[in-house]
Amino acid sequence: MTFSTLQGLVCTQTGQHARADALQNLSPAGAPYFADYDLEAAARTLRPDAMAGRPQSMWRYHEVLPAPGSDAIVSLGEGMTPLLAAPRLAASLGLKHLTVKDEGRNPTGSFKDRGMSAAMTMAKHLGVKHLIIPTAGNAGGSASSYAARAGIGIDVLVPGDAPAANHDECRRAGAAVTLVDGFLDECGRRAAAIAEAEGWFELSTFKEPYRVEGKKTMAYELAEQLAGALPDAIVYPTGGGTGLVAMWKAFDEMEALGWIGSARPRMISVQAEGCAPLVRAFEAGAETAEPWADATTKVSGLRAPKVLADALCLKAIRESGGTAIAVPDAAMFEFVSRAGRTEGLNVCPEGAACLAALPKLLARGDLGADERIVVFNTATPHKYGDLLAGIS
Ligand SMILES: *Cc1c(COP(=O)(O)O)cnc(C)c1O
Repeated sequence: MTFSTLQGLVCTQTGQHARADALQNLSPAGAPYFADYDLEAAARTLRPDAMAGRPQSMWRYHEVLPAPGSDAIVSLGEGMTPLLAAPRLAASLGLKHLTVKDEGRNPTGSFKDRGMSAAMTMAKHLGVKHLIIPTAGNAGGSASSYAARAGIGIDVLVPGDAPAANHDECRRAGAAVTLVDGFLDECGRRAAAIAEAEGWFELSTFKEPYRVEGKKTMAYELAEQLAGALPDAIVYPTGGGTGLVAMWKAFDEMEALGWIGSARPRMISVQAEGCAPLVRAFEAGAETAEPWADATTKVSGLRAPKVLADALCLKAIRESGGTAIAVPDAAMFEFVSRAGRTEGLNVCPEGAACLAALPKLLARGDLGADERIVVFNTATPHKYGDLLAGIS
């Protein structure tokens, strides 16, 4: 049995191949790489009926994940998060079938852990000694914990006004934290310059090819939890866009593996009104997104003014028949509370953004009242400190 069927990397823009047994960032064309698997070989063992005895983590899908063997995996027990029905919240919105995939249950409290487990596994395997990562918040804490788990040094560049809990969790895991006066894009520019000067490996969203691989397991789990009956629509909060693009990749893989047919959920991307580069590009019919000049949202996971994988995000939204929509911060805070009161759900503001978008999507005709809708709650609200302090 082949543990992983990873056979190389492919440039998402030119289709050019690259080796997976060497460290890679962006392709020569400046585009992200996607991992490429021998799906025919993977299909022999990765079957829905063979999953029962497998580990209760995302590594149960090891044939389509990057790891040379089970001993090489850098894991803290990420994935296999619950899919929770929200019938009262659904009824209050005029919906029939609403479920929430609760990514707040991951080891450091966000879905970022899936990507970091995969990325750190390959970084360790390929001999990386020191990493650097720009982050708006949750990615830093996650990367710090997984780097510690892997025994790799790490520098984190984070906006000074990101939640204090995010700075603290990085330091607790032994990371060197630099507070940057600026947004995620400024952190990214500096990280690239430092990586170059110091010879460190950069773990930025999409610049590193395997974070997407970890995140795609959200879609595999959804298929498993719903016994192959994927929802009509997936509503996902979008910052850098990895979650959206990763799940879109996973659906193609799952079809090739024989897990699902050709039907796809509509991918609905939710951003903050104060930073909505993808929504603006979607509405303009553009294939790429211009950076957002002055991000005003306070919600860290949605403060990504520049979307490196803009073309991939817009393609996934359009090919799926989905849409993009922006909501104000105040509506997110309202739905943090509403999810708590009606269902006992602990949702972060980014997850609440998706709930807040539902009434608008219904009114616009982008969702039908009878449709099966899955909303992703991407993190626990417990790290947001002051931002949620007054919410009740
Ligand atoms: C990073 C993050 C997002 C945005 O995720 P992408 O997949 O990069 O678009 C959304 N919510 C939370 C809580 C995050 O930490």
